[in-house]
Amino acid sequence: MNERSYDVVVIGAGIAGLMAAYKLAPLRVAVLCKKALGSGAATDWAQGGIAAAMGSDDSPALHALDTQRAGAGLSDETIAAILANDAPARIEELLELGAAFDRTADGELALGREAAHQRRRIVKAGGDATGHEILKTLIAAIGLAKHVDVIAEANVEDLLVDSEERVVGVIARIAGARERFIVRARATVLATGGIGRLYRYTTNPVEAAGDGIAMAARAGATLADMEFVQFHPTALAIGRDPMPLVTEAIRGEGAQLVNDLGERFMTALHDDAELAPRDVVARGIFDQLRRGRTVGLDARDSIGDRFPELFPTVFAFCTSAGIDPRSARIPVAPAAHYHMGGVAADEWGRTSLPGLWVCGESAATGVHGANRLASNSLLEALVYASRVADDIREHPLPHPTSGALPVAPHDSSPRLAQAVVDLRNVMYADVGLLRDARGLQSALARIETLEDEFPNALGELRNLLVVARLIASAALAREESRGSHFRQDFPIPDEAFAKRSFTKIDAVA
Ligand SMILES: Cc1cc2nc3c(=O)[nH]c(=O)nc-3n(C[C@H](O)[C@H](O)[C@H](O)COP(=O)(O)OP(=O)(O)OC[C@H]3O[C@@H](n4cnc5c(N)ncnc54)[C@H](O)[C@@H]3O)c2cc1C
Repeated sequence: MNERSYDVVVIGAGIAGLMAAYKLAPLRVAVLCKKALGSGAATDWAQGGIAAAMGSDDSPALHALDTQRAGAGLSDETIAAILANDAPARIEELLELGAAFDRTADGELALGREAAHQRRRIVKAGGDATGHEILKTLIAAIGLAKHVDVIAEANVEDLLVDSEERVVGVIARIAGARERFIVRARATVLATGGIGRLYRYTTNPVEAAGDGIAMAARAGATLADMEFVQFHPTALAIGRDPMPLVTEAIRGEGAQLVNDLGERFMTALHDDAELAPRDVVARGIFDQLRRGRTVGLDARDSIGDRFPELFPTVFAFCTSAGIDPRSARIPVAPAAHYHMGGVAADEWGRTSLPGLWVCGESAATGVHGANRLASNSLLEALVYASRVADDIREHPLPHPTSGALPVAPHDSSPRLAQAVVDLRNVMYADVGLLRDARGLQSALARIETLEDEFPNALGELRNLLVVARLIASAALAREESRGSHFRQDFPIPDEAFAKRSFTKIDAVA
């Protein structure tokens, strides 16, 4: 089998993977990513922006406080403080690398304000193209960096673990190839992003399939906060998968949510109706869908002819599907958007396995607790990627040893595709916005059937099943409602559960 050797191997080329790789100089680094560099990363689609206390009326302490409030009692105080304190320096670094963030007429950074932030602290680029600008900047920096080799279209299948349970590299396969290859490394960084693909409706790219979490779990790593999945209330339901976002700002302008009977259902659910917290609106819409209704966002009276000018991106998505929001309702559904859980990491991105670090959405540092504050995810990726790189650079690394080769997945049955569809439907229906013991147990039973049927699945089902089991089990164990996790059979928070959850795959298998 073909083998290469590096100081560090980084899995993933979104904001987390690229920032870590860039800052690991002078160590020799390989970055492996599933698609061509620049595609297949949620980073590219991030719109709203990246939070940092840069304004004269703001402070990292306030930012940390807002982060903790959003986390519904589970956000780690130390980690939130690190996030907020390091944020301005990381933004300055991006500026030095050439990121063209939006500026006011007098040349200051144009800071936006988002829900649950007490101050204007959202750094943006191109209005709603922040992630794209950051990714472009990092790709340019990596292109000039002599210490990094990018191996694109390479799907990492597993981690290599030696006899002392140290991670010593990865095993991967170039798209379409039969042969696998090994990258041996003295340190391995997971930066594979989120898990949205696990749900029938999602805003995440197809590549956000929980691969990093699954391979770390198989290698024996500790996972944390797996039950906390944030749904965006209004994704555009025009049959596209993944679904485009319909920004909250449209509701901010007065658009109303109505079902196909013309009923405005949010007024009965919350005093703030359509402007209630994200989770409340998402659950309200989901409840309608569960009752067989469809839901539309009606912007005809409130926005009308101003729509193309105010919301050009959403307007373009709508018209591409033959919907004119000036004269028709916009069909919407809640979609899996962000995963607070992942591979458990400390303040340096270290995991429970020696030789393995994690950063970005696949990490669970504890900063988001039970819910994420808007625009904190790009920031978390940036801050902790930097810290991972510092930690790896500053400690002596052992020479790579040979790890045992994991069993190669080989079942390429044509039934795998249908199994993925089934799993995604089950996860959306029973492990999504409204959960209860019956639904979660039935989802776990279905997951087990699929595991039995496809023990060696080649492709995405293998990892999706691992992550599905971890999320459903954690959701069943948390007998309360908190943040993004809502149990219909335990609808209020319970002090007995006011702590983060940690697990291993063996504990739930
Ligand atoms: C539509 C949308 C809008 C958003 N808006 C915002 C926002 O305004 N502000 C904010 O803070 N956050 C936002 N987010 C969330 C944010 O974009 C993500 O949390 C963040 O970009 C994650 O970065 P990452 O580097 O961890 O993962 P990603 O950017 O997803 O990168 C993951 C990388 O890993 C690769 N990969 C995955 N599996 C494998 C494998 N097996 N082998 C090899 N490579 C692999 C992928 O191909 C990709 O290169 C948004 C997300 C979405 C989907």
